[in-house]
Amino acid sequence: MWEDNGTMSDIVTDERLGECSELCTSCGLCCQSILEKAAVLEPDEVELAKELNLKPFVTRDGINKFHLPCSLIHGNVCSVYDSPHPNVCKEFQCILLDQLLSGKISLEASLKIITKIKKYINRIAEKVSFIDGSKSFLALIQDCWDLQQHLNEELLFDISACRYLLFRYIMSPSKPYSIDRLFLTPCSYEKGIE
Ligand code: SF4
Ligand code: SF4
Repeated sequence: MWEDNGTMSDIVTDERLGECSELCTSCGLCCQSILEKAAVLEPDEVELAKELNLKPFVTRDGINKFHLPCSLIHGNVCSVYDSPHPNVCKEFQCILLDQLLSGKISLEASLKIITKIKKYINRIAEKVSFIDGSKSFLALIQDCWDLQQHLNEELLFDISACRYLLFRYIMSPSKPYSIDRLFLTPCSYEKGIE
């Protein structure tokens, strides 16, 4: 989630920072289990995570993490925003936030994209009963796609559109943009997604 921690203030205006804050507080998707089921903690943040009741755990690879969706999100907003909390929360910046920050997209357009993504997430969640609590929403809808013979056309489109939008806008810019064999061209989807 974006935070005005001063690191960017030299290169962007206060107005732009305010827009970024408005986007993130209207979104909150990265604090949910949409992309990942857990977020990474630095070794010296484990005690802080315990104090925040984030119930940190260690993976088989020895990495400290805490579960998502985060128990500290209220609505779309972090309840410990003004207090010490994990660095991963301060550092994560999705593609959409990156674009808004650099002036490549307007706040209005950004908010419309978040609304659209949430619409697809809700529509899918209404139609599919996910039973595997160990996976992110993205992993679950990928599983659904692999079993697509059991899905109707409308749900297939919702899953495709949702996955496309998550890859297109909510991934970290440092992760490669990926449209794989499951999808039509981005252009085709942009036209079909409403
Ligand atoms: S997913 Fe992106 S826009 Fe949404 S809260 Fe996280 S950083 Fe902000
Ligand atoms: S601590 Fe706050 S910013 Fe970090 S995942 Fe939890 S709700 Fe989100």
